[in-house]
Amino acid sequence: MNLEQLGWCNDTSAAAAFLPLAVEGFILGRISLEHRGAYRVLTERGELSARVTGQFRHQTSDGLDFPAVGDWVALQLHNQDTEATIHHLLPRRSQFVRKAAGHQTEGQVVAANVDTLLLMVGLDGDFNPRRIERYLVMAWESGARPVLMLNKADLCTDLDAKLTLLETLIFGVPVHGISAVSGQGLEVLGTYLQPGKTIALIGSSGVGKSTLTNYLLGSQRQATQTVRADDSKGRHTTTHRHLLPLPSGALLIDTPGMRELQLWSTTEGVDNTFSDVEDLASHCKFRDCHHQTEPGCAVQAAISAGDLDPRRLQSYQKLQKEQQWLEQRQDQRASLNTKRRWKQISKSIRQHYKKQ
Ligand code: GDP
Ligand code: ZN
Repeated sequence: MNLEQLGWCNDTSAAAAFLPLAVEGFILGRISLEHRGAYRVLTERGELSARVTGQFRHQTSDGLDFPAVGDWVALQLHNQDTEATIHHLLPRRSQFVRKAAGHQTEGQVVAANVDTLLLMVGLDGDFNPRRIERYLVMAWESGARPVLMLNKADLCTDLDAKLTLLETLIFGVPVHGISAVSGQGLEVLGTYLQPGKTIALIGSSGVGKSTLTNYLLGSQRQATQTVRADDSKGRHTTTHRHLLPLPSGALLIDTPGMRELQLWSTTEGVDNTFSDVEDLASHCKFRDCHHQTEPGCAVQAAISAGDLDPRRLQSYQKLQKEQQWLEQRQDQRASLNTKRRWKQISKSIRQHYKKQ
């Protein structure tokens, strides 16, 4: 495959960053798989195994600055061009980040350099407007264009009612009812699957991501599993994220096995997703209004008038709290990192003077 087929564009900051590296003899690769620090990269010479150099690892303190699926990297080839070392990560056009699973406050890049994020929810028991809001917050933050895919339309008898409900939440984000099983509505995907474009499929397990991926790949590449009928939670089979070239010429990042999506640093995302609430809030009498019992609260007035769903206000406040909590933790972590770094530096300076 050539670089354009892998999604490379010449008028990006990545291209500008690579120019001097090309002169030094580095070659370009795009990360197709990451597993515990080991990578697969797609290059013009095929797919190779790769690792970051020791120097890269040493100089990179933030997990977000390590290569993730979809990233462009500058490589050197070894072992008759069968292996590669990653020397530089090139700037991203977009990045979809979640809080890493577990307790640590770490961001994790789920997919990089994505053009279109297909946010997938099921029209069965999985359908939940609050989850859709959460996805949209994360999508706006990513820099990629979000599209909402409502899958399992074949199981849904009130699609129109659900679409009407969503209209008040999604502000111009395209939304499509589809069925990955019956094929209903899938022709719309052609718009997003242009050659050289990268799409990522995001959604909780059981919504039909593997079924759709299989359809797009035109083969039964991925195992799907039966959903337990009672809670529509599918069990996941694979947990690796892949970048997969599709027959259409587009590139697909699939994200199997992600059970939960927790926010990561999302002031802007929350603002964009809840611009209606923010607009109302700008008319509150007090600038620091909590929209509870304050006099002159435009948000409560809109709720009383039936113009705003109170659950939407709740969701807004919940995501805002989550975001503020994260911001605090990130600040703490950043100051810890700085302290650690200064300790290291002063230690190395002391050692330097001892030697003399
Ligand atoms: P994933 O966990 O998101 O990858 O979900 P899967 O693709 O494994 O799908 C979970 C279950 O939902 C499987 O039993 C699929 O056959 C089923 N499924 C997926 N898409 C549809 C659809 O459009 N309609 C119906 N009725 N079932 C679907
Ligand atoms: Zn208010």
